[in-house]
Amino acid sequence: MTTQTTTDSARPDEGARALLDTVSVGPDNGRPIPDAATGETIGYAPVHSVADLEEAIKTARVAQPEWAALGHAERSRLLNLAADEVEANAEELARVIAREQGKTLAGMGARFEAGGCAVWIRNAADTPLEPEVLFEAEGTRSELRYEPLGVVAAIGPWNWPALIAMWQIAPALRMGNTVVTKPSEYTPLSVMAVVELINRHLPPGVLQVISGDREVGAAIAAHPDIDKVMFTGSTRTGREIVKASAHNLARLTLELGGNDPGIVLPGADVSALAEKLFWGAFINTGQTCAALKRLYVHESLYDEVVDTLAAIAAEMPMGPGTDEGSALGSLTTDQQFGIVSSLVDDARERGARIVTGGEPAPELGPRFYRATIVADIDDDARLVAEEQFGPVLPIVKYSDLDDAVRRANASDQALGASVWGDPEQALEVADRIQSGTVWINQHGSLNPAVPFGGIKGSGYGLEFGAHGLKAVSAPKVVTV
Ligand code: NAD
Repeated sequence: MTTQTTTDSARPDEGARALLDTVSVGPDNGRPIPDAATGETIGYAPVHSVADLEEAIKTARVAQPEWAALGHAERSRLLNLAADEVEANAEELARVIAREQGKTLAGMGARFEAGGCAVWIRNAADTPLEPEVLFEAEGTRSELRYEPLGVVAAIGPWNWPALIAMWQIAPALRMGNTVVTKPSEYTPLSVMAVVELINRHLPPGVLQVISGDREVGAAIAAHPDIDKVMFTGSTRTGREIVKASAHNLARLTLELGGNDPGIVLPGADVSALAEKLFWGAFINTGQTCAALKRLYVHESLYDEVVDTLAAIAAEMPMGPGTDEGSALGSLTTDQQFGIVSSLVDDARERGARIVTGGEPAPELGPRFYRATIVADIDDDARLVAEEQFGPVLPIVKYSDLDDAVRRANASDQALGASVWGDPEQALEVADRIQSGTVWINQHGSLNPAVPFGGIKGSGYGLEFGAHGLKAVSAPKVVTV
């Protein structure tokens, strides 16, 4: 592993420091935010109160009619300028994200996240959404128009903090809503940094950050003057938000947890698919909603898949996200480190085989856990039944494909799933899987033009593309 110390890499580091200093409030007024890899304080996030939230919602309400009155073309122009700004500062933003969240700069890491923010903003800005003619005959015409809802709350998680914030915020702004966003208490600075860049091009009051803890999240969700809640986070919190919406009847988009299954079919070319299988599970050190979280492998290929993935895991360099040589980073929070450790310990106690990893890597930092492959494990183990959200993949053996499909569908969570092997057979199996998305011979790729969302306990509502724009709009039928 190498740490770059050239002048070229010092400049973005200074830029990242400057961006952090811009959004950070200082030790007297804020809460220290650690570097996920080292624990060193990287900045201080404001601790907004419910009173601050009231002010923010009032400001958003006042700013909304003027923002809506600008019209689609002007809002799109401003959002494209915001995307340019994010792109121009992408390396600095990536370094803020890598430090706060712990993901690597390289690969599908912090540079991907920062670049993705610009891509998703542009997509929301440029996706056409025309009124739909529903009926036209004998002098009558009915059309469906999409109007702004008003004030949208965007509540996000800590795993892809800036990118997920953009998934929520950009379509809402494009459709003429104003937004109050509440980042996770663990990763507020990444969201504040990307919002700082965007706000260089938006009128005041259109997009505001409230950086507070869970109580502030609960207060936004229940607030009578919030018209829509875009929520991404755990299924448990999703249920609380549904309850809160009984009071304000806010519309909801709920992107909740996943426990994505993958099924490897007999005859699959393991060596050709192994890298994709590995990254399907270990992207962002496993802290990804739609990552492969339990892999069902036919008995004829079981040993080959286990050994191949274990060999890749054992060799994958792990280290601080800002280290150019790291392919896997640290866990973001102590709490997540505890969850991952306890799920692996439980699997071990049940007699599962830890093929590689299975322990922390304290020499790298306080929240590193070695890339772990667990074999000879059954569906009742917590590691299979629950979302691990870390660098651990349980591999489960099956002998009968119908049985594997039944077990894949047995989870309450149904965000993503994948089938690996002959594409034609895989498509047939995909038809029988209950999931928001099913990938064939890949897992977890997302496209800003293709809708994404879960079913069952993984939530409801779609994000991205025209479906995503409709989700942050009030449908209005006009009949002439
Ligand atoms: P979390 O539910 O603990 O927190 C998410 C956000 O909700 C935070 O900002 C938190 O402060 C806020 N919050 C907490 N209590 C609240 C309440 N009562 N009302 C309103 N807001 C409240 O989730 P997390 O641990 O930050 O994120 C990890 C989870 O998110 C995982 O389960 C993961 O699968 C899921 N996730 C899903 C997607 C998706 O697109 N489906 C994407 C990323 C993460």
